[in-house]
Amino acid sequence: MKGRKLLMIPGPIEFEPEVLQALGAPTTSHTAPDFIASFGNSLRMMKKVWECPDGQSFIMAGSGTLAMDMAGANLIEPGDKALVISTGYFGERYAELLKRYGANVSILRSEPGETVSLSVIENALKKDKFKLMTFTHVDTSTGVMVNPKPIGELGRKYDVLTVLDGVCSVAGEEMRQQQWGIDMALTASQKAIGVPPGLALLVASPKAMDAWKNRKTPVGNYYCDWTHWLPIMQAYEEGRPSYFGTPSVNLVAALEVSLKMILAEGMENRVARHKALAKEFREKIREMEFRMMPVNEDISANTLSAIYFPESINASEFMGGMAKSDVIVAPGLLPELKSKYFRVGHMGSVNLSDIVSTIAAIENTINQLKNLP
Ligand code: PMP
Repeated sequence: MKGRKLLMIPGPIEFEPEVLQALGAPTTSHTAPDFIASFGNSLRMMKKVWECPDGQSFIMAGSGTLAMDMAGANLIEPGDKALVISTGYFGERYAELLKRYGANVSILRSEPGETVSLSVIENALKKDKFKLMTFTHVDTSTGVMVNPKPIGELGRKYDVLTVLDGVCSVAGEEMRQQQWGIDMALTASQKAIGVPPGLALLVASPKAMDAWKNRKTPVGNYYCDWTHWLPIMQAYEEGRPSYFGTPSVNLVAALEVSLKMILAEGMENRVARHKALAKEFREKIREMEFRMMPVNEDISANTLSAIYFPESINASEFMGGMAKSDVIVAPGLLPELKSKYFRVGHMGSVNLSDIVSTIAAIENTINQLKNLP
């Protein structure tokens, strides 16, 4: 017995041993030359993973919500109009967050498992002049993936800053931030980036940085203010010591290792691996009479799956049975459908044997519920 279970939730995920080893190395000074080099390398590698060579990357101590907050704090001024494209739980969170900074927020919501159509988005952009729009690349509550490319195009056409919540997508799904014209793409360490929870990560376009520079009012959040953090990121990239708030030294060392592994695999191979494993998982799940929440394959995420229980299965008995297995899965997250579905993460270091083990645990649990051998 290994004494541990396979972690198949949509973050945190199973981490590579090399990454965990880096995390356990003796903590050094945040101004030590080798740490400065690690931080600088990580900032540069992020721009490669995000495919945004002209962007400004930021690494902060915090979770994905802090990365979302960085956009609200730095890009919104009281009274600005913001459009939130919501495909689930995290779209709703973004709307609430932007309101805290005084934004006048309009929300376009999809039904669970669906996306908001481009014509609906374009109509909203035609009717009103928005400063910024946000969308969730992969909503972790529904397993729905939104195509960022046409949204980036609409952002350029109507001169609206585009913010992509990539907490459940970056380093797992295709990402071409610069080519797609996305102004900010953010994530957190504990998902497809493959580092234990604790880092908020984002890359901002020159247009986003200009919008912040041209603010008429000061940033209303002391910790998030780029006035403090931009010189720090610039110093690390230029190999100079600097300080504003103590960085997560060990997590940054682990981030450098993980980003190197991601780039060694190559983003194209990595995305192809995620696609192939997700497809395999969905096929096996459907063979067991489950139904996926995303209404079609084109909008199904490759980093996680949201799966409806069939009528014949009692949700709490199923989750209880799974809790006794060697595989950890996640319950539903959308408040209105919480007991109707469950979620499985398959991102980062995931391989075929993880998929097979998860399917086997689900199959065994169902058989036990039906009292089958
Ligand atoms: N956005 C999405 C799409 C997420 O999946 C999550 C986390 N599940 C968040 C934002 C918030 O990230 P965190 O929990 O790290 O604050």
